[in-house]
Amino acid sequence: MRMNRFMSLLLRRGSLMLALGSVCCAAAWGKPLRVVATTSMVADLVSQVGGAHVKVAGLMGPGVDPHLYKATASDVVKLQRADVIFYNGLLLEGKMTDLFTKMARTKKHVYAVTDAVPSDRLLEPPAFEGHYDPHVWFDVKLWAHGARAVIEGLSAADPAHKEDYAARGAATEKKLAELHAWALAKADELPAAKRILVTSHDAYNYFGRAYGFKVIGLQGISTVSEAALADMAKLVDYIKSHGVKAIFVESSVPHATIKRIAQDAGVRVGGELFSDAMGTPGEIENGYDLGTYEGMVKHNLTTIVGALKSVLSPIRAHRVFFMKRR
Ligand SMILES: [Zn+2]
Repeated sequence: MRMNRFMSLLLRRGSLMLALGSVCCAAAWGKPLRVVATTSMVADLVSQVGGAHVKVAGLMGPGVDPHLYKATASDVVKLQRADVIFYNGLLLEGKMTDLFTKMARTKKHVYAVTDAVPSDRLLEPPAFEGHYDPHVWFDVKLWAHGARAVIEGLSAADPAHKEDYAARGAATEKKLAELHAWALAKADELPAAKRILVTSHDAYNYFGRAYGFKVIGLQGISTVSEAALADMAKLVDYIKSHGVKAIFVESSVPHATIKRIAQDAGVRVGGELFSDAMGTPGEIENGYDLGTYEGMVKHNLTTIVGALKSVLSPIRAHRVFFMKRR
């Protein structure tokens, strides 16, 4: 009888521990926290704050368009197994938003990093039809707010390392403040009249506000709707009448339309910008890794400022760009 009681107590304790293990996390067992992030920018932010305490799996690699991305069967498995999930939010991940909302209702730690951005700093351009613009990462200072959401999310899932997350989070915010200062100084190399940025889709509104550029995107809020011919003709007129010297293609949007507009307007394609995805990890350009958020920001600003400042003739510059791509 006594033995039976002892056994049943042990069993109850055992099942309690198992239950705790399942609702808590890998970190409780000394393993890194299993984190799933959607875009590469979010994955980078989580890695910076989490350090060795997290193992981050990003769902969307280089060149992937989050507006159109649908979760694959293996993504769903990863999401189900994750201890914590971070996504951009503000409907950037258009086709996955419902999935995250549902998961957040269950036991999951699910967080949108843009929830930490003060809402009075969010843009709501008319073209976005009543929605906030989700492309917050283009303003480095604004994106730094996301570190708060990551610190809170990781600490809630793994309270044992709360202090580490706070310290690493503060270091990340400091690094981002330095990057923002670098970006401001880089933009200042260009006179205000030359700061006109023409790209494929309306991703750069935050960039424009932060670094003083007038921004014109061919497609609206997302890449879902393709550019109409009337819009293309209007853009060609605009480029000609404003003396814009170069326009830009984006890594996660097909290039054909922008190339056609450049041809019609008699300007050059000034280079490829990263918009909704970072570059390939390990690909180094001027000493920075294009597969990091820092590399993405530096590549974009260097490319934009370089092309708009440049006095190369359209034909020569076009040749330089395509030679570089080979
Ligand atoms: Zn976008």
